[in-house]
Amino acid sequence: MSAEAPAPAPTAPAPIAQPAKVFAGAVYECVRCGTRTTQEELAKLPEVKCICGYRVFRKARPAVVKQIKAI
Ligand SMILES: [Zn+2]
Repeated sequence: MSAEAPAPAPTAPAPIAQPAKVFAGAVYECVRCGTRTTQEELAKLPEVKCICGYRVFRKARPAVVKQIKAI
């Protein structure tokens, strides 16, 4: 068994960027006070939390009503 240092990984072909159509610009609504925020805004915060302190959001989309529970 030879203990060789692992060779640097060969340059892997970059995966083709696919259009992010799922969460980009998605709007979430606090289920408590109804304040709307975007996925972008939530991503900036250290934790997913509404200004009212509640941490349960739902997608503010007419077709999709799904509760998102923050970790
Ligand atoms: Zn709220």
